[in-house]
Amino acid sequence: METKYFDLREKIDDEKIKEAAEAIKEGKLVLFPTETVYGLGANGLDENAVKKIYAAKGRASDNPLILHIADIKILDKLVKSVGDIESKLIEKFWPGPLTIIFEKKEIVPNVITGGLNTVAIRMPENLIARKLIRYSNLPIAAPSANISGKPSGTVLEDIKEEFDGKVDYMINGGKVNIGLESTVIRVVDGIIHILRPGKITKENFEDLGFDVAIEKQILGEYDGKEKVMSPGIKYKHYAPNTKSVLIYSKNNEKMVDKVKELAKNENAVILCKTSNENRYSGFDVISMGDTLEEISSNIFTILRKSDKLNKSLIIIEGVKEEGLGLAIMNRLIRATAHNYIKII
Ligand code: AMP
Ligand code: MG
Repeated sequence: METKYFDLREKIDDEKIKEAAEAIKEGKLVLFPTETVYGLGANGLDENAVKKIYAAKGRASDNPLILHIADIKILDKLVKSVGDIESKLIEKFWPGPLTIIFEKKEIVPNVITGGLNTVAIRMPENLIARKLIRYSNLPIAAPSANISGKPSGTVLEDIKEEFDGKVDYMINGGKVNIGLESTVIRVVDGIIHILRPGKITKENFEDLGFDVAIEKQILGEYDGKEKVMSPGIKYKHYAPNTKSVLIYSKNNEKMVDKVKELAKNENAVILCKTSNENRYSGFDVISMGDTLEEISSNIFTILRKSDKLNKSLIIIEGVKEEGLGLAIMNRLIRATAHNYIKII
């Protein structure tokens, strides 16, 4: 298949988005930007189109997809009911990086939900994504655009090769804003359960007066047996091929010392906060930024870049597991396959 490529970095061209939306209607695959990460989209109501997503990504068929909508009116067509808490969250956070799990209606094909009777729905904020959904007049199923197990794509250049010839359209919208996938939640008995942490944080929900629970597998290991609320937890994720280790201490000196100790005997690259860069003179360093927002927007592309250096080890400085830091650490713990040293 020949992939048609649209560059909308400088200027949004509605005619091009309309063409891509027509392709969605015809059951084709469109890779497009959202504010979280790039998505690999298809008509969410067309079983065959959705199967193409799984095939292109090499994704396990029991790992369900998120349906993306642009208009609140369509929600009632897809889900059985919208509870009070969900309504408040929608009002506050949509459009935006929050995915909510609902009981699904018959119209949502089982292939989307991995056979579950629930469906994950989000309304993205990114203008290209919104227009694509609007013009197609369909809910668009779109997982992160990356081969399963690899870091998500936050700039098109990182994933272009992976999907060239496997999708019908690619839309370049430049570097995404947030850089981590959406927060995924499910409300059970009045409590917001965070199934995947993201830009919308536990603290954001608590500030609104909600009770929040965090699934314990978010930072811990999955033993392969426990029942999980989010099937995605079972799978390897975000992993570079190079062996990697995550180091964190509240005490910056201790963290830096440990990083150096490990780097000394290896051909290592160190991913560090910009403010720590000068502490690693003599070592190979990639700076991740300083604020949590900078780190989240850079981390996936830096993981890919460091993997290409053919090093024996990637050493990553961790951050405090609070606010957006929880989402960053969730991705890094999984990227390093739980090779995580926390120093008290
Ligand atoms: P991705 O498509 O890469 O953004 O990943 C989607 C995430 O949403 C995965 O972690 C899924 O497990 C989760 N998810 C999607 N649908 C459901 C659902 N019905 N119930 C629980 N988790 C879901
Ligand atoms: Mg993904």
